[in-house]
Amino acid sequence: MTQHFDFLAIGAGSGGIASANRAAKHGKKAAVIEAKQIGGTCVNVGCVPKKAMWYAGQIADAFNYSHDYGFNLSAGQFDWSRLVKNREAYIERIHAAYGRGFDANGVTVINGFAKFVNKNTVEVNGEKITADHIVIATGGRPSIPDIPGAEYGIDSDGFFALTERPESVAVIGAGYIAVELAGVLHALGSDSHLLVRKEKPLRGFDEMLSDTLVEQMAKHGPTLHTNSVPTAVTKNADGKLTIELENGQSVGPVEQVIWAIGREPATDNINIESTGIVLDEKGYIPTDKYQNTDVKGIYAVGDNTGRVQLTPVAVAAGRRLAERLFNNKPYEHLDYTNVATVVFSHPVIGTVGLTEKEAIAEYGKDQVKVYNSQFTALYQAMTEDHRDPTRMKLVCVGKEEKIVGIHSIGFGSDELLQGFAVAMKMGATKADFDNTVAIHPTSAEEFVTM
Ligand code: FAD
Ligand code: NDP
Repeated sequence: MTQHFDFLAIGAGSGGIASANRAAKHGKKAAVIEAKQIGGTCVNVGCVPKKAMWYAGQIADAFNYSHDYGFNLSAGQFDWSRLVKNREAYIERIHAAYGRGFDANGVTVINGFAKFVNKNTVEVNGEKITADHIVIATGGRPSIPDIPGAEYGIDSDGFFALTERPESVAVIGAGYIAVELAGVLHALGSDSHLLVRKEKPLRGFDEMLSDTLVEQMAKHGPTLHTNSVPTAVTKNADGKLTIELENGQSVGPVEQVIWAIGREPATDNINIESTGIVLDEKGYIPTDKYQNTDVKGIYAVGDNTGRVQLTPVAVAAGRRLAERLFNNKPYEHLDYTNVATVVFSHPVIGTVGLTEKEAIAEYGKDQVKVYNSQFTALYQAMTEDHRDPTRMKLVCVGKEEKIVGIHSIGFGSDELLQGFAVAMKMGATKADFDNTVAIHPTSAEEFVTM
């Protein structure tokens, strides 16, 4: 018998889970279909295991500082497999919590790979399922370059499957994942190389952030190789890998090569043509601001829509969709502007809004005023060898100095940003920041004392 639902999410990652739970809370008969593990990329091979690894790197850093704080400690033997075991046990607890949430809300979970049959029907494990509303929340997967020997490398999914710490590694790419994984591996003691094809990593970020990251990499590592375009990966007799570059040079041999050159949408294998939806040239699903596709009753949220690829974005878009459809809020939609984000690099970056360059391009140079601050966070100021700069920038526009960009790199930049992002979203000006009494001693206080 064909099962029928009011609301069906294809993919139980950040967007699918959020939208199905919210639909069910509004009394709808909802289901999620998941081909792999509940939680999707973020929980299983993204944010969560990455943050656990990043914390391990922070603890390794703390050992380096500990002497200056009066401890006679050294990191000693580091057990990668214990870290991975505990990380995966934590992820199992998240799976269980999701299961309890689905049960409480009455969401049906179907395990299997879904393909469309037509615009109201999908097929899973040979069974047909129909729904009044279907959201495509299939996310994405890592891109691998089409060069000889690329298959010798692993991607971010492969990184999380590593059972041992590689002695040496080359991470290739210049975005979030590349700088995060290279930073973690370096902090945990691997001989780590970051290969970027242009002049620096994080080129799309405010220059103060990317330049400081480069400066810190030069001081502490990982080893940055700029203008390095891989043309081939070769496997040596001992199993180690060498990366051949377009400029005739090579990097390696290293134990592991990790590709982190971007991600592509998982939309090519779901028979989407049968619905009438036409993908864009990169395979993303075109949607309007309400997450509607061109076909009535089919929506898309998250990484496969070609917008900001962050978990809270997929969650927020999914929840708002369910609110719009089932809670009498016909205009509910996600505002994709000024989404705050953290890059868990070493040092960590927090950023929201326009870069200085973007603000000048949008408002004109004479309308933009920038405030900068540089200091050594007290945590590091106590140390002999780790007095690294924290840098912060406020980008303001117009006579009233409305804040349109907030950028921070250095200790604590991750946790301090969220509240400032609320203020910016509310339209805060420099004067509003100045009117806020500082919390001392913190790094965050620099933003209200510039
Ligand atoms: P996903 O979470 O990818 O979920 C899609 C799900 O659909 C998957 O479980 C997949 O198996 C399933 N699926 C696909 N096709 C089918 C099908 N045909 N049938 C059934 N099931 C299917 N974001 C942050 O905000 N902060 C971070 O710190 C962060 N770190 C990251 C680190 C890494 C290494 C990576 C790769 C990503 C990270 N992200 C982070 C991004 C974040 O993970 C994604 O933006 C988010 O998971 C997108 O959610 P989604 O619902 O669109 O897709
Ligand atoms: P990104 O899009 O962030 O970065 C990939 C970068 O790699 C490109 O910008 C490009 O930089 C470079 N690149 C592209 N093609 C090649 C190539 N053929 N060879 C070498 N370098 C290449 O992708 P990621 O995979 O790092 O991450 C995907 C998304 O996941 C992110 O955009 C982010 O939204 C999300 N994410 C979020 C995290 C967080 O919130 N902390 C953490 C991890 C991921 P250039 O042009 O400069 O060479």
